[in-house]
Amino acid sequence: MPLYDYQAKDPEQSCDFCRDGFSQLQSMKDDPLAACPRCGLPVQRLIPIVGVATPKTNSELKNLGFTKLVKRDTGVYENVTRTGSEARYMEAGKSDTVPDLKRKIRD
Ligand SMILES: [Zn+2]
Repeated sequence: MPLYDYQAKDPEQSCDFCRDGFSQLQSMKDDPLAACPRCGLPVQRLIPIVGVATPKTNSELKNLGFTKLVKRDTGVYENVTRTGSEARYMEAGKSDTVPDLKRKIRD
């Protein structure tokens, strides 16, 4: 069963138990608790912070097959995730500098 975190909606009124938040084991099927089991005042379920994999560095993006373009000048973008023969800079109107996106999608 997942563990859910709750916190008092009104910390001014709440008891010691729910003021700083508490965790409750619950089935996924159960409705969220609406009230503190000790003082009965309203509580809210906190959004669980699950390990959402958000790649942050350019090399992580590159490894995942993403292309990241960073604007360097008017109409000029640096391909910070370039691989192989891709041009470092993509310039507007120069098709040979456009990253090979089709290849990346197929890979
Ligand atoms: Zn309470």
